[in-house]
Amino acid sequence: MQRILQKIRLAFASIQVIVFVLLTTGAAIPVAGQVTTETVIQKATEQFESTPLKTISLDNGIWVFTGDGGNVTAIVDDGSTLLIDSGLDSRVGELTDASFKATARPVTRLVNTHWHFDHTGGNVSFGSESVTIIAQENVKQRLSSVQNVPFIGLRDGGYPAQALPTTTYSSSISLRQGGQQLTLVNYGPAHTDGDTIIYIAPANVAVVGDIFSNPFYPIIDLASGGSIDGIIYSLNEILAQTDEQTKIVPGHGPVATRSDLENYRDMLVQVRQRIKALVGAGRTIDEAVAAAPTKDFDAQWGRGYVSPDVFVRMVFTSLTDSGNPKR
Ligand SMILES: [Zn+2]
Repeated sequence: MQRILQKIRLAFASIQVIVFVLLTTGAAIPVAGQVTTETVIQKATEQFESTPLKTISLDNGIWVFTGDGGNVTAIVDDGSTLLIDSGLDSRVGELTDASFKATARPVTRLVNTHWHFDHTGGNVSFGSESVTIIAQENVKQRLSSVQNVPFIGLRDGGYPAQALPTTTYSSSISLRQGGQQLTLVNYGPAHTDGDTIIYIAPANVAVVGDIFSNPFYPIIDLASGGSIDGIIYSLNEILAQTDEQTKIVPGHGPVATRSDLENYRDMLVQVRQRIKALVGAGRTIDEAVAAAPTKDFDAQWGRGYVSPDVFVRMVFTSLTDSGNPKR
């Protein structure tokens, strides 16, 4: 069933890339029914399906599992494990095994950093085992019905009742897990409109979700209320709450330092300024792409599933689309 759903997702993604190409570039499709460009989601899903799951210890009873879609963080107390994100639906068995092997405790609580399928895919399985699912309130709303994100070729949602968050919050909530205090915070729309950043103290770990994919240009999920200004705002807040010793767990990629996050924020600020200038000069979105405003950053940040062109289009649209919620 999961495989079939995956196929449907990819099929929709294929249709949507055609619509996207037509809407944004006016370019002709070479052969009817054939798609020559992979969507962001197709590229990402192929990678998520085939990357081996790795377990990394952050000490203090905290582990990170990478490779299964979005990064998953586990924090233990005496008798249970709290997970942050649940990976892909197709790999939840593998994740559960890796979690139990590392922590030797069953999962009783799960926090979702946002609604995307590579961070919530395991919710159906965990939810059906009565795991408490905690998220920002907009995550529940988005998972409850079908969501279309044409920019990246994603159509998902309409999750079954057991996969939905059972505890929601608006701007902040605190949880205790063993010796660690977890502070869950939403700084307003950023990657989506339901992002949660989790500060873990005294371990000094910050789990930031897809506000940071290390070391890639981020997806700005405009259809889910995301914006470039919101991502920069959230990053500034995270930088204010962390120090040089903080371990930063990104939504994807290796665990990072605060200075990695600072470099990433600085790159986003510069790209935003350049694209804002192009908008101010009256350039169209295609002219902005042609101006290659990210050129000197592409070698470092442009090798992920968000290509430089797609990233420029996302930032341009975020700065110009009046229908998009702004900070
Ligand atoms: Zn995401």
